[in-house]
Amino acid sequence: MDRTKILLGENELPRQWYNVLADLPFPPAPYLHPVTFEPITPQDLAPLFPQELIKQEVSQDRFVDIPDELLDIYSLWRPTPLYRARRWERALGTPARIYYKWEGVSPPGSHKPNTAVAQAYYNKKEGINRLSTETGAGQWGSALAFACNIFNMECKVYMVNVSYRQKPYRRILMETWGATVVPSPSKDTNYGRALLAENPDASGSLGIAISEAVEDAAQRDDTKYSLGSVLNHVLMHQTVVGLEAKRQLEMAGDYPDVLVGCVGGGSNFGGFFLPFVPDKLSGKAESLRIVCVEPEACPTLTGGLYAFDWGDTAKTGPIARMHTLGHGFVPPPIHAGGLRYHGMAPIICALYDRGLVEAIALAQTKVFEAAVSFARAEGFVVAPETAHAVKAVMDEALSCKESGEAKVIAFNSSGHGHFDLGAYESFLSNELEDYRYPTEQIRASLEELPRIDQ
Ligand SMILES: *Cc1c(COP(=O)(O)O)cnc(C)c1O
Repeated sequence: MDRTKILLGENELPRQWYNVLADLPFPPAPYLHPVTFEPITPQDLAPLFPQELIKQEVSQDRFVDIPDELLDIYSLWRPTPLYRARRWERALGTPARIYYKWEGVSPPGSHKPNTAVAQAYYNKKEGINRLSTETGAGQWGSALAFACNIFNMECKVYMVNVSYRQKPYRRILMETWGATVVPSPSKDTNYGRALLAENPDASGSLGIAISEAVEDAAQRDDTKYSLGSVLNHVLMHQTVVGLEAKRQLEMAGDYPDVLVGCVGGGSNFGGFFLPFVPDKLSGKAESLRIVCVEPEACPTLTGGLYAFDWGDTAKTGPIARMHTLGHGFVPPPIHAGGLRYHGMAPIICALYDRGLVEAIALAQTKVFEAAVSFARAEGFVVAPETAHAVKAVMDEALSCKESGEAKVIAFNSSGHGHFDLGAYESFLSNELEDYRYPTEQIRASLEELPRIDQ
């Protein structure tokens, strides 16, 4: 009988992260200073990040050791299982072999603690006792709250106002782990107060919440800032996912034809597929397809511009060259599927620009339809973000059914959806609407990019 679950022992946890920067023949452009537009220096970043993470951000070492103390924490939920979706394959009637890596087993329920615990660890080691951050739906905030609690650090979370009001359970989870959570825009920063003066009911955005968290860290000596996606070091921490998955696929006797993942800032899918990139670059797996899936409501790769832009709305954080919808982008409140950041990891953008990875944008009703099909076959109710990957895999599997090809499709199942049942309820009661972000609005938002020669 084919195996359903491919497991690694605790002693098989990867002991090093993989750093793709060592292998990329086309490095991403350097970050620029938000005001001078000059390449950013380690001193510029020092108020925001500890030295070790600044070092990791630009490291050219192919592998970076994972400290023993972190391995011990990882072992609480890692290695995570790789499943063969046999029941879903049967339900779809596909000859394809579908595998999914299940990151929903961590205490906060997603891949995010893989980097949250690493970031808290390096900050703590350099004497920092308080971290500030932003969160949208609450996944990242809860991962960092969990991590800060382990290291006995304070955690201040600026939570996008619309989610703060609509999603109380993630906030309660953060508070259970001891974090302080405020709706963003908040009264706690100059930027937040200025926005509230203009509009007391502002729904907020990730870009605004990042600006508040950056201001918080920049103004206090005891505090640094923590970002849950996008940056090189974040993607590197997440490679534990792909390193494990690669071994588990080997144990199953398969090598993937297609890798699929959802992309918001690019960390879960980057962590999953980056360890396969050397195979593609060296020609060992030239035909391997890597498919990034994003929502039509926030089409960063498929609808944005590859340009220098600020990472946050107040233009106080570093500028990166990335696919962007503009730092002023505010996603539509009716969009239930997450993945709302205006930019994208520079590493993923560079790969996309060179045609090494593909991208597609999907409508949310089809995405939830696929998630329900998956839940009814496999049992797991995935996060709305993850559901984007599920829908793309379903389409691949159904086209295999038509062509008769037995492709190996593997995706990163980045988290569970137990706190997102409101979105499932909207779908099940036919209240979910599709929303494609209007091209004119994207164009207007892109007018505001910094004037830098590209
Ligand atoms: C945050 C999140 C994502 C999107 O973030 P990336 O950095 O693009 O991975 C995807 N899935 C889940 C479950 C998340 O919590």
